[in-house]
Amino acid sequence: MIQFFNTLSGEKEPFAPLVPGEVKLYTCGPTVYDFSHIGNLRAYVFEDLLKRFLQFRGFRVAHVMNITDVDDKTIRGANAQSVSLNEYTKPYIEAFFKDLNVLNISPADHYPRATEHIAEMVRIIKALLEKGIAYRTDASIYFSIAKFPGYGKLSKINLDQLRSTKRVESDEYEKESAQDFALWKAPKEGEPYWDTEIGPGRPGWHIECSAMSSKFLGPTFDIHCGGVDNIFPHHENEIAQSETYFGKPVVNYWLHCHHLIVNGEKMSKSKGNYFTLRDLVQKRQVKPMALRFLLLSTHYRKVLNFTFEALEQAEAAWQRIKDFLYELEHHAFPSGKNSDSQKLLEETNDRFVEGLSDDLNISVALTALFELIKKTNVLIKDGKICADDAKDTVSFVYSLDRVFALLPSKKDMDLADELRPKIQEREQARKERNFKRADEIRKELLEAGIILEDTKDGVRWKILEKRG
Ligand SMILES: [Zn+2]
Repeated sequence: MIQFFNTLSGEKEPFAPLVPGEVKLYTCGPTVYDFSHIGNLRAYVFEDLLKRFLQFRGFRVAHVMNITDVDDKTIRGANAQSVSLNEYTKPYIEAFFKDLNVLNISPADHYPRATEHIAEMVRIIKALLEKGIAYRTDASIYFSIAKFPGYGKLSKINLDQLRSTKRVESDEYEKESAQDFALWKAPKEGEPYWDTEIGPGRPGWHIECSAMSSKFLGPTFDIHCGGVDNIFPHHENEIAQSETYFGKPVVNYWLHCHHLIVNGEKMSKSKGNYFTLRDLVQKRQVKPMALRFLLLSTHYRKVLNFTFEALEQAEAAWQRIKDFLYELEHHAFPSGKNSDSQKLLEETNDRFVEGLSDDLNISVALTALFELIKKTNVLIKDGKICADDAKDTVSFVYSLDRVFALLPSKKDMDLADELRPKIQEREQARKERNFKRADEIRKELLEAGIILEDTKDGVRWKILEKRG
């Protein structure tokens, strides 16, 4: 049985999707006014773990992640640089996809953009006006939270402080007070707007997720994720809008991941403890998979304290998995099979599945893997690992890695082993300024279908598309 902690009930609940075998998942995506920081990336890695584990357990997962490309921040940024909203957000959207790729985060099925779904949002707002739940003031349209009886059920906000007469235009407002929020914002000098049947203007942030989740996943879907920061007001408001519009529950399981702090402090640009993936990889030569390991290794409902010491430990742990596989693949073992080793694989698998089934308890799953490494090493020392065991253990670790996603694909690893001496020889030739030899090696590899790229972070290689 799989169970998840549902923010809505405040309890762990057995997980059962609406349609057996299929999971509909919506995760709040980036607001593309800047590069993603490691706190954002923590949420994306948690969501990736969730999705990969569900897939590992045989579910088909339909995953949608929105891209907020119009809001107060993107408009401010575009205006500051005197460029259009599109021009301003484009490089950040590209950077976002690159980050996901670098961290081995498997892509969603859809990445709908807010600016491309204005019609869907207008349709909902119009209906909310007709129902008398939304009202107009100064050419903006607000949601009257007093008219939605379930308001506060997700965030458990204290409704004694409900000030329904007070309206708020900003999407991110005081965490303690419930207020009527903007669905549609009247045009302002120098801001982009859309001419629509509810009047000219632009959408609020919350309506975007209601419109795009229902478009791709239907009015009710299984899991909605985000950071704890999203619970109020964003997700509370999403529930209010969607449930008023559709007249039924919108999400069955709400999963939220906790904050990331740096050296025990809140991350902020002014403190100099604010990191993007670029900062870490390019300026500090951090290995992306070490970062993935670190982001993954703290349970999603706990605060993650990022330190460079923890990052070093994560890299060492990651290296340990790779060394273990290398040893199993390159050591000569006697032929045959040993029951001790086979039993160990079964036990490890059970603990791994049990751990992650319990609200994604990653510590149990990782401990199971590292115990396997420790115990197998003892078996190797005692001469109790045979060739079949070694082979089975390697494929078993790769099967777990369908969830962890920390290892390069096996084919790439084999190729990397073969290439390493050649690449080193070329590096040496370049150091000795023997560019002729360096060039020869480059050409040799190119003929074999391998292209070398010299980057700031060293030599990278990739396989050319097969010709013919
Ligand atoms: Zn959202």
